[in-house]
Amino acid sequence: MTDDSDAALPGAESVPRSGARAVDADASGDKWAEARGLIDGWKGGVNIAHEALDRHVAAGHGDEIAIRWLGKSGERRDLSYAELTAQANRFANVLASHGLAAGDSVFAMAGRVPELYAAALGTLKAGLIFTPLFSAFGPEPVRTRMEIGDANVLVTTESIYRRKIAAWAHEIETLKLVLILGDTAPEGCVALAPAMAAASPEFETVATRPEDPALIHFTSGTTGKPKGAVHVHNAVRYHTFSGRVALGLEPGVTYWCTADPGWVTGTSYGIISPLVNRVTMLIDEAEFDLQRWYSLVQDEKVEVWYSAPTAIRMMMREGSEAAKPFDFSALKFLASVGEPLNPEAVLWSAEVFGQPFHDNWWQTETGGIMIANCPGAEVRPGSMGKPLPGIEAGIVARADGKIRALGTGEIGELAFRPGWPSMMRAYLHEQARYDKCFVDGWYLSGDLAMRDSEGYYWFVGRADDLIKSSGHLIGPFEVESALIEHDTVAEAGVIGIPDETAGEVVKAYVTLNPGFEASDALERDIRGHARKKLGPAVAPREIVFRKTLPKTRSGKIMRRLLKARELGLPEGDISTLETDET
Ligand code: ATP
Ligand code: MG
Repeated sequence: MTDDSDAALPGAESVPRSGARAVDADASGDKWAEARGLIDGWKGGVNIAHEALDRHVAAGHGDEIAIRWLGKSGERRDLSYAELTAQANRFANVLASHGLAAGDSVFAMAGRVPELYAAALGTLKAGLIFTPLFSAFGPEPVRTRMEIGDANVLVTTESIYRRKIAAWAHEIETLKLVLILGDTAPEGCVALAPAMAAASPEFETVATRPEDPALIHFTSGTTGKPKGAVHVHNAVRYHTFSGRVALGLEPGVTYWCTADPGWVTGTSYGIISPLVNRVTMLIDEAEFDLQRWYSLVQDEKVEVWYSAPTAIRMMMREGSEAAKPFDFSALKFLASVGEPLNPEAVLWSAEVFGQPFHDNWWQTETGGIMIANCPGAEVRPGSMGKPLPGIEAGIVARADGKIRALGTGEIGELAFRPGWPSMMRAYLHEQARYDKCFVDGWYLSGDLAMRDSEGYYWFVGRADDLIKSSGHLIGPFEVESALIEHDTVAEAGVIGIPDETAGEVVKAYVTLNPGFEASDALERDIRGHARKKLGPAVAPREIVFRKTLPKTRSGKIMRRLLKARELGLPEGDISTLETDET
């Protein structure tokens, strides 16, 4: 590679390295976790909760803090590994006392409270299958997911139950038990607190087999109807390994994952990976609030922080000044996932926190981090990093049922050679949709990317979102990143709209930073800025100002919805839609 091509890369600016040390992750003969002594297996089987809890207690670490919970209104609660194990055991016993057994399905829908974590772990201990849902889902998304997932048990709060579920719960034929957090429960439901108090804190974890299903995660629904991805107990090998290698999770570290357990990040890296790696994890019950977040990182001395671009852009909106009063010196490593992390966000975070947020890429289907800017590695702002050790990634093109590997600098579909343990084993009841993901020995992600000559991967866009304009292929990410470099722009969503001469032209929707007003002059100014950065063929023809962009509950911009509205087409599945103000 020549210096010239290096300089042409958008990420050639250097940013400070993280304080975390690189984990030696030589994959040769040392794949995943067991060779490192990170998991031990259980009676010849594998059980996620055994690895996350029992093993640590047996090894004398029961007194270490597993969960530090920070309640909405200032409450604090610490649960040691021994206490969390006892709570999970009680929950497992409650399930057993109602005749539920391995293979049955438990859904949970509650805010981020300790009981939810105990329920998740107790479910896994007992060999049942756990499915978390966002507590903010409306009745319809809950119902369809419970139907698709053949829910046998629902764990929820009284308020959620009354508002969203009571009216139709009896119509879910598989549903046998509704557990309500707290001391009382509506008729037909069981109050969890007294049931837990009466249950034994001892439970022998079920020796599930590696391929037994453990978790079902619904995808975010960004591109269409959410799919139920099935994950098995063996996934714990990869959760452990990737948390160590890509996030720097190790015993004693204070860790905060801001993701809700309603989606896969909040479970893989918000429950399993941190506990198996024996960290102390913070759980904040409240929603995003800048002052609260900065205080939390400072006061709790967060060392490893895992968040998402949507949150980072919210911090950026408030400016660097807002961060000045805080001491972030405990931070060792910051990582981001869920959407592409704009170079602007990488540089901004490096300035404010002394080191950048490190982008990493994965999806519900892969169950764990696949491509990452790992601790200690050089960060190229705008790049998602490199495949984790032991992961074989490729940029490929599909042609007649065959796969052609593409070379350096070519844009193609991001693909992986199957075989890592946390890969999904099915889309629930959608065999054909699942089969379509595998072609010619590759798993195809549905995302487009490019690999540079040094092996860094660059996200281009989802295959569905690619814009074809006058012979150019335009990835929305590139355009959005250029737009948010404009001083007034907080966030941007970019789509292609049909055009007679160009095929498609680029249209952008933006939200503004506080203190700026939408106007024609501003629209022209932002377009001018984009033209300078991107050239006239790629820059948006038109920019629309909005209060918010339509996003999924996991914080992803729903470009397909912007496009459907633009074209007057049906909106499709909007069960995961959160914000949406014009
Ligand atoms: P659906 O599959 O239902 O349309 P979804 O793909 O958004 O929804 P998730 O599995 O939650 O559901 O999200 C994974 C997707 O998020 C990836 O396929 C990718 O498009 C995007 N993504 C995640 N991390 C990154 C990243 N670091 N850079 C770019 N894109 C990312
Ligand atoms: Mg997807």
